[in-house]
Amino acid sequence: MKTLNALLGAVAALSLFAASANAQTYPERSITMVVPFSAGGPTDTVARLVAESMSKDLGQQIIVENVGGAGGTLGAGRVAQADPDGYTVLLHHIGMATSATLYRKLAYDTLNAFEYVGLVTEVPMTIVARKDLEPADLKGLVEYAKANKDTITVANAGIGAASHLCGMMFMSAIETPLTTVPYKGTGPAMTDLLGGQVDIMCDQTTNTTKQIQGGTIKAYGVTSPERLKVFPDLPTTTEGGLPGLQVGIWHGVYTPKGTPADVTERLSKSLQVALKDPNVVARFGELGTVPSSDADATPAALKAKLEGEIARWKPVIEAAGQYAD
Ligand code: ASP
Repeated sequence: MKTLNALLGAVAALSLFAASANAQTYPERSITMVVPFSAGGPTDTVARLVAESMSKDLGQQIIVENVGGAGGTLGAGRVAQADPDGYTVLLHHIGMATSATLYRKLAYDTLNAFEYVGLVTEVPMTIVARKDLEPADLKGLVEYAKANKDTITVANAGIGAASHLCGMMFMSAIETPLTTVPYKGTGPAMTDLLGGQVDIMCDQTTNTTKQIQGGTIKAYGVTSPERLKVFPDLPTTTEGGLPGLQVGIWHGVYTPKGTPADVTERLSKSLQVALKDPNVVARFGELGTVPSSDADATPAALKAKLEGEIARWKPVIEAAGQYAD
C-alpha cells in the first residue's frame, strides 16, 4: 500500500511538473486559430489582424483556418473537439451566444466546452445594399422592402451569424419576413452583393467600410447608438426610423475545455499586447471599431460576456420562435 501511495505521489508530482513545464515553454510550435466563417469576411479580418500581432508576441506563428458553415457552429464544434493543449483556438463572435438557443441540436455544450482567453472588439453593423437598389435612405428602403417582399433577397452567413441576427432584427422591425440567402461567411456574400446577385445585407463595418467608402455598395444605416467617425454622413438606424435595431458584434477568443489555465493566461496576455499594437489600433479604427481594453481581454470578462449574452438573447430568440435543427 505504501509503495502504491508513493507511486501515485510520484506520478502526481510528475504531471504537475509536466503542466508547468508546458506553460513555461508554450508555445513550442505554430497555433491554429479557427475562424468559423469564410476567408475575406469580417470575422476573418479581425482574426488575421490579431493573429499576426499575437504571433510576434508569442514567437510562434498563428495560422488562421477558415471553417465556415452552419452560422459558425461547425468551426466552434471543431475547436470544442480539439486537443486542449493551447495549439487550437477559436475566434468567434456574438453567434457563440445566439447559436446556443437558435440550434436545437449543437455538437457541443456552449458553456461547458470551452475555456476563455478574452474579448477582442465590438463591431457595429451596417445595413447595406447593392449599388443600384433604388431607395435613397432607410425610410425608403423599409417601404421598398415591404412593397417587394416576395422578390427582395437578404444575404447572411447562416443561422447564428451576426448578419442573420441583424437581418432578423430588420425584418422584425419592419414587421415583414423576407427571403434570406445563406453563405458560409459574408466575404462571399459581399462578392454577390457587389455583383448584384443579392439585394441587401446587414454586416459588420469590418467588412463594409471599404466598399461603402468606395461607393461600390449603398449604405442605409449603422446599428450603433452614435454615428461613426468613419462614416460621419451615415445616419444611425435610430435616426433612420428603426430605433430597435441596435446591435454590437462582440468577438472573443476561446480554447477547448481542459486547456491549462496558465496557457490561456499566456494567450490572454498576448491578446492584450496585440490589442495595443499601433497597427491593430489603426486598422480597427479604419474599419469602424476599437480594440477591447486590457480588462476586457481577459478570461473572466469573456466568460461573463458569454453567459450574459446567452441569457439576453434566449428570450428574444424564443419569442421569434425560429430555430435551426
Ligand atoms: N461575421 C459574419 C456574420 O456573422 C460572417 C463572416 O465573418 O463572414 O455574418
